[in-house]
This record gives sequence, structure tokens and C-alpha cells, in this order.
Amino acid sequence: MKLSRRISNLPPYFFVEITKKIAEKKARGEDVVSFAVGDPDLPTPNHVIDQICRAARDPANHRYPETAGLPELRQAIASWYKKRFDVSLDPDSEVLPLIGSKEGIAHIALCLIDPDDTALVPDPAYPVYAIGTILAGGKTYYLSLTEENNFLPVLDTIPAHVLEEAKVIWLNYPNNPTGAVADIDFFNRVVKFAQQHDIAVCHDGPYSEVAFDGYQPLSFLQAEGSKEVGVEFHSLSKSYNMTGWRIGMAVGNAEMIDALKRVKSNLDSGIPQAIQYAAMAALTGPQDCIQRHNNIYQRRRDLVIDMLNRIGLEAKPPKASLYVWAKVPKGYTSAELANSLLEEVGVVVTPGAGYGKNGEGYIRLSLTIPDAGLVKGLSRLAGWRSKKEPGIKR
Ligand SMILES: *Cc1c(COP(=O)(O)O)cnc(C)c1O
Repeated sequence: MKLSRRISNLPPYFFVEITKKIAEKKARGEDVVSFAVGDPDLPTPNHVIDQICRAARDPANHRYPETAGLPELRQAIASWYKKRFDVSLDPDSEVLPLIGSKEGIAHIALCLIDPDDTALVPDPAYPVYAIGTILAGGKTYYLSLTEENNFLPVLDTIPAHVLEEAKVIWLNYPNNPTGAVADIDFFNRVVKFAQQHDIAVCHDGPYSEVAFDGYQPLSFLQAEGSKEVGVEFHSLSKSYNMTGWRIGMAVGNAEMIDALKRVKSNLDSGIPQAIQYAAMAALTGPQDCIQRHNNIYQRRRDLVIDMLNRIGLEAKPPKASLYVWAKVPKGYTSAELANSLLEEVGVVVTPGAGYGKNGEGYIRLSLTIPDAGLVKGLSRLAGWRSKKEPGIKR
């Protein structure tokens, strides 16, 4: 058998080694505390679950759904954008529900990228932007996100020949893995840049509702002219603890939304309707769960930041997202530090290098760890530090 080049061209999964080590430790009966996965530990709110159960009993929801999603869901998404961001969307042409946003993020590459076209992709980043590009036969040009630039790409350093071949720019704020946020000036600059170079914008914003200290993240669609150049991917996953139900959305530019709908109508058969009703319940129902969850994450954030700084891993409190991005102390690569924490105290963190070259020098800790695990994990981190004493300087 000969597999396609597109499959052989996929980069090896960076986390293979550490995943193997975790499995080995668990098989030996050793207890591992994981700060690695970005998957809310808190349950989906009750009123949403009640709606799934009710809708599951209705035989009308047992049949094939439409690719475009239920009109009531598209309306609910448009109303939510209006209420939350004061962004107006036409539910028929500017809203497309997705089987989780990851699905749409990967598939939109097929709408924008021909073989040898270029996608501008941040580094570090959620891996799907580059993977979707590779699967579509395209090339990736990486935009460095560094602390000096507040983890925002510097658009005017992109070479002219790259801009000529570039079809799309990927952005993600609040950012995974760095926790960085973007303001409206940045989004306005992105719109100008996109217009100037005829490049589509794909903004990935699943963390807009996960924020702390009263901060309210923005939507890219709040930027003037944004709908002419791009779309935003969003998701119910992180806002309402619904990662397992698989529902998200793409909103914005009608031409891009229509292209994505054409790809999807040929590849999938829509989102199970009971889950579409659940999404409506989440978007139109009481929103107090969001603040309640954020209070929990904020408390965890403060505990994690405090401990990291005490043991010499410099970290700043993020304003939003589910992640703490901490600096690796001198003498370690990110993978070596992750390995040391796992081997010596059974704590799992994600090495920053797994998100790209610029992720080297950092580790990511997720705040989606239940309180009991959090307390145990923090005391193990303190234990790791005292084992190293006096090897590491602050
Ligand atoms: C979690 C996450 C997603 C995917 O969310 P789903 O809607 O569950 O597929 C997309 N982008 C980023 C940056 C994420 O962290």
C-alpha cells in the first residue's frame, strides 16, 4: 500500500514521547497529576443537558440534519453575537454551525488554499491551522509571537514575496497557548493589512468568554470592515463546558461561509439536532454559569501563578483563556523541564515547543484541573523545587 504524500507530509505528533511516558507511569500504578489538557473539567450546565434529553426523545431529531444547521440555531448565534459584541450577522448567509470549531478550521483550508499557496500561521499556535494547510497541499509561513510584541504578530515584517503567495492569515485571541489578548487597534490593523494584500482573515476565538478580573475579550468582527475580509470561528466548547458535544460556528464573510458550506455539504451530514437544540439553550438561556466558571478558573490561575513564580518558573497572570504560559528556567529545554516534572514528581505539563519554534522556552499549564488535583499538583511542584535546591536561581 502507498499512502498519499499529504499523509506522509504530516509532522510527527510532538507529544508522542510524553504521552507514552504518562501511560507507562499509569500502568505501573503511579499517580500522575495532569496540567496538560485544555478540556473544561466542570460539567455542562444542567439546563443545557435537560434540553439535550428532551430533544433526544423527539423523533424529528432522529433523522439527517441539514448541513446549514437549524434556522433557529443560526438565529440564536446571530442574536448572541449582537448581544455579546454588538455585531450584526445575517443568520442565513453569515452564520454556519459546525461539528465543533476544529472541524471548520481544518475544512476552510480547502476553500482558500490551492497546492503551493501560502497560509500565514502564528508560532506558537493551536496545531490545526498548519495541519489544515498541509492537508490542502499548501505551505505555511510562520508569524513569530514573542513576549516583546505581546504575542501579537508583527505584520509589516512579512516579506513581499510571501505576501504575494499568501491567501489567508490565521489569528487566535484570547490565545492558546500564550493566554495573550488582542485589542481593537490590532484587529483594525489586521483588516487594513488584509485589504491591502487581498488576504483572507480567519480568526479563531473560542476563549472570548473565558476571562478574568472583569476583562471582556473582543470579537474580530468588532473591527471596522472585518466582514469584508474574514470570518471568525467560535465554539460552545469552552464557554459552556461542551467540548464533548461537538458544536461550534463560523461567522462573518458570506462568500467564505458559503464556500465552507459547500465543502461541508459534500463531506458531512450536519450536527445531530438534539445537540443543536442544546446549543440554542446555552446561547439563549441564563448566562450566569459563565461568570461562575470564570471565578473558579481565576482562583486556580492565581494559585498556579503564585506557585510557579515561587519555584522559579516566571509567569504572568493571563487576562483570558484557560492557560498559564510559564518560562522555563535556564538549563532546560521545554521538553526537558516537562520530562523532569513528570519523572521526579509525577506532574504533567505541555512543553511549549509542541506549539512551534517560538514555544521553546515555555511550558503551558491548563486551568481545567479539578481542585483536588490542583492542590496535589501545586504541592508536588513545590516538592520539585526543593529537590532542585539550590540548583535553580529565581
Ligand atoms: C479548544 C480549541 C478549539 C476547538 O474547539 P472545538 O469547538 O471543541 O473544536 C479551537 N481553537 C482553539 C485555539 C482551541 O483551543
